[in-house]
Amino acid sequence: MTSALSILNSVFGLPSFRGAQEEIVTHVAGGGDCLVLMPTGGGKSLCYQLPSLMRKGCGIVVSPLIALMHDQVAGLREAGVKAEYLNSTQSYEESCGVEARLLSGDLDLLYVAPERLLTPRCLELLARARLALFAIDEAHCVSQWGHDFRPEYIELSQLAERFPEVPRIALTATADALTRTEIVNRLKLAGARRFVASFDRPNIRYEIVEKNNARAQLLAFLAQRHAGDAGIVYCLSRAGVEETAAALVERGFDALPYHAGMDAAARAHHQDRFINEDGVVIVATIAFGMGIDKPDVRFVAHLDLPKSIEAYYQETGRAGRDGKPADAWMTYGLADIVKQRRMIDESVAVDDFKRVSIGKLDALLGLCETPGCRRARLLEYFGETSPPGNCGNCDNCLNPPVVWDGTILAQKALSCVYRTGQRFGAGYVIDVLTGRSSERMKQFGHDRLPVFGVGKERNDKQWRTVMRQLVALGHLLPDSEAFGALKLTASARGVLKGETSVMLREETAQKTVRRRRGKDAKRSSGPLAGAGLGRTPANDGLLGALRAWRSGVARAQGVPAYVVFHDATLEAIAASRPDTDAELRAVSGIGERKLERYGDALLKLVRTAGG
Ligand code: ADP
Ligand code: ZN
Repeated sequence: MTSALSILNSVFGLPSFRGAQEEIVTHVAGGGDCLVLMPTGGGKSLCYQLPSLMRKGCGIVVSPLIALMHDQVAGLREAGVKAEYLNSTQSYEESCGVEARLLSGDLDLLYVAPERLLTPRCLELLARARLALFAIDEAHCVSQWGHDFRPEYIELSQLAERFPEVPRIALTATADALTRTEIVNRLKLAGARRFVASFDRPNIRYEIVEKNNARAQLLAFLAQRHAGDAGIVYCLSRAGVEETAAALVERGFDALPYHAGMDAAARAHHQDRFINEDGVVIVATIAFGMGIDKPDVRFVAHLDLPKSIEAYYQETGRAGRDGKPADAWMTYGLADIVKQRRMIDESVAVDDFKRVSIGKLDALLGLCETPGCRRARLLEYFGETSPPGNCGNCDNCLNPPVVWDGTILAQKALSCVYRTGQRFGAGYVIDVLTGRSSERMKQFGHDRLPVFGVGKERNDKQWRTVMRQLVALGHLLPDSEAFGALKLTASARGVLKGETSVMLREETAQKTVRRRRGKDAKRSSGPLAGAGLGRTPANDGLLGALRAWRSGVARAQGVPAYVVFHDATLEAIAASRPDTDAELRAVSGIGERKLERYGDALLKLVRTAGG
């Protein structure tokens, strides 16, 4: 058996394994079953691709997403691996051809959709073929409680009975214990070894800012930090998606909308452009994302609050799969909390479900308001204890917010809510606090209350921050039945009586957190991910030329650009300017097949372009 490392190098062009990859590969290559829990971008694919190449026979990969299957197979073929798929997009003749190659031992890897695999014809075919392993990707799809449940996945338990001698490896990026147990039970993996990687995504920078003018804030964020980058902007509503995409286009971004209200062809077209082209920004509702495998998404921006930490982590997790620096940026304000609460209250769900939803929202608000490390908070939520101290790559660690005793301010706000009858939203309450009278207020006589004008020392914006935190801390509750009027909760009484103090975080003035390339490069996990070299004017010309060349190749072959080469590979070429085949071969991401195929073109580009 050829060693795992030498195949990693010769076929995939990668110099070393990441995390537990080597241990997993060795275990599966030796015939062992296992369950692999690894975050998005952790490198799960190699965990079954390499053992498939090392063992005799063909590796069968069960994957629920046909689009993803195509890209994976295209990528493997680029690297010279004999890979195919069987799914409903093929003609009968095409699938017969694939079946024949499987039986004659001419395939290393075969991707199959679960419903196809479970047909009698396919099971019979597999029984006659020599099989290296079964890989069950997105294994959390067996979970009936999860949002990606696929009934066919339950039937995959048959594999254990029908093919007891073939090793099985189940993989997922969904972390919670319940899902893990369900996978083990349903896929009959009780005796399988478990590999649980940390769910930390060190290359992702988490940042949550106070919402003032969401669109202007987004534009500034993109202009300052992500000009020309590919990214995803999430909005709650279809209208929000359309308007934001239009605003970005007006400012010169290559932005496209995506939501369930669009017709299927337009949606597919936008998704294709996002995946296949460089620097497209997709503005989407949460309908977008499942099965998006694009490695070079440089940012995920949220203009509205998601439902839960799980949703936030899954959505932000689509950034930076390639291990290079990426941003998870969110703007959030009081209106977001009110909106999410209302959606829960107005939903038709049973009370238990509503309680769970409120608990999840509260956990997310805790993340938004924490003055501590966002990463630590996230990992803690998923049951991981993170090392104490400064992660160095979230807004709070880079720019620690000031926390101060705001009990007096809180008391003023809460008593103003009480005195005005708990019938008004934050805007009105702030008007009373700051002593801004109106006809309406005079009618109610609120301009004569003792609380009128007691908060003059703070401006509107500062009071909005205070009100939001009081809601997030649970001292005030927006009442959905009364149009978001704020009501006091039981805990507010303690504050008013002076028994509970209220610590508030001061919004750090609009200091933009900038990307520090050097340090990030070290943190990112890909071996040559940053190469510490960054972009210089001299190699920008070459990098541009390399990208243009890659687009041409990708178009000609009908595959996404990243299937030809990842950004990291092009950047490493631009930075090191290789002069010989051997130097080129040393670049991460260039295996033997790619050298043979593209080596001359690349060396020529290096000699002629830029610098
Ligand atoms: P997952 O399926 O876990 O989300 P992938 O298998 O798609 O992750 O891998 C994510 C990215 O990391 C891919 O771009 C892949 O090429 C890269 N990668 C995986 N393992 C390594 C490694 N050992 N060295 C360098 N890059 C790697
Ligand atoms: Zn941190």
